[in-house]
Amino acid sequence: MIKCLDFIFFNFLKGKIMRAYNFCAGPAALPTAVLEKAQQELLNWQGKGVSIMEMSHRSKDYVAVAEKAEADLRKLMNIPQNYKVLFLQGGASLQFSAIPLNLLGKNNKADYISTGIWSEKAYKEAQRYGDINVIQAGTTVNGKLAISEQAHWNLSKDAAYVHYADNETIGGLQFASVPEVDAPLVSDFSSSILSAPLDVSKFGLIYAGAQKNIGPAGLTLVIIRDDLLDQAKPEIPSLLKYSAQAKDGSMVNTPSTYAWYLSGLVFEWLLEQGGVEAIHKINLEKAKLLYGYIDVSDFYANPIAEANRSLMNVPFTLANPELEKLFLKEAEENHLLNLAGHRSVGGMRASIYNAVPLEGVQALVDFMDDFAKRNA
Ligand SMILES: *Cc1c(COP(=O)(O)O)cnc(C)c1O
Repeated sequence: MIKCLDFIFFNFLKGKIMRAYNFCAGPAALPTAVLEKAQQELLNWQGKGVSIMEMSHRSKDYVAVAEKAEADLRKLMNIPQNYKVLFLQGGASLQFSAIPLNLLGKNNKADYISTGIWSEKAYKEAQRYGDINVIQAGTTVNGKLAISEQAHWNLSKDAAYVHYADNETIGGLQFASVPEVDAPLVSDFSSSILSAPLDVSKFGLIYAGAQKNIGPAGLTLVIIRDDLLDQAKPEIPSLLKYSAQAKDGSMVNTPSTYAWYLSGLVFEWLLEQGGVEAIHKINLEKAKLLYGYIDVSDFYANPIAEANRSLMNVPFTLANPELEKLFLKEAEENHLLNLAGHRSVGGMRASIYNAVPLEGVQALVDFMDDFAKRNA
């Protein structure tokens, strides 16, 4: 095995710094082609003599970049005309407050389905603003973590909306399908947006922080159905108000211009790959390869029931936890980065977002197999 410094030096001699495989949960890997394009354009965007970062967000050039990003996202996700797409700031976490402030103005009740750390944070914040019915939907099936059947959920009859997190990034637990409920569905798609085809028309609101599967940190997407724009509480801060942001093209104040531009490059890249259907096929292959290997190994284990395994975040443990430090050290020497699990749960986690190629997952599996053989 070549060590990291030798690797970088070797490629430096070849005039090229090779990139490692990055399994970080977020901020996460970005496609190399996107970063190269951004690098080419960094100092002098399209012959204008300045960086896109140095342009007014209200200039004709920047507005065209922003609108192109939205149009490409609409194409990728097939977003119906009666939905607004907002490019906001504050991360997914600010949406934990923005959502109840925007949607509980007329009816103060909401249902929150809890399946892990992120959906719990979402309902705890919502409880500051409304009458929140929390549905604990975590369960176990044959000793593995799972999401309970919808028939077991105690949904209200008159909720303004039902909130859930499609993919629990930390636990690696994902809904097998979109819940069927009467109230508008509001979902946190921070770590699963654009990973698989999705019928947007089933939702009242979809939101996602950009730094997992879209672009750099600093941008948060909100996709909201028009009829939900007039339900805000009067005391809502104007910057958080979806109707105001929709009216001003997400430019009530200065938006996160560079993150928006770079996300636009990612959308272009996704379209070049063949769109969400094509990337989904690769994502399925990646997940099959990694979970398949973990399942046949006695050395590694995944704690999630098959139906609820995350397509994007694969947590796993080593039979002997004392080997974790060595595993991470050797993984890094082999250019396989950021495999430690979340600080709250420990173990390992490989995030295999859109920008992580199949070869990266193959390299990880090869390393895991080699490590297991040497340490069994
Ligand atoms: C990362 C993440 C968040 C928090 O995102 P921030 O942008 O850091 O606020 C919320 N929900 C899910 C599902 C996440 O993966």
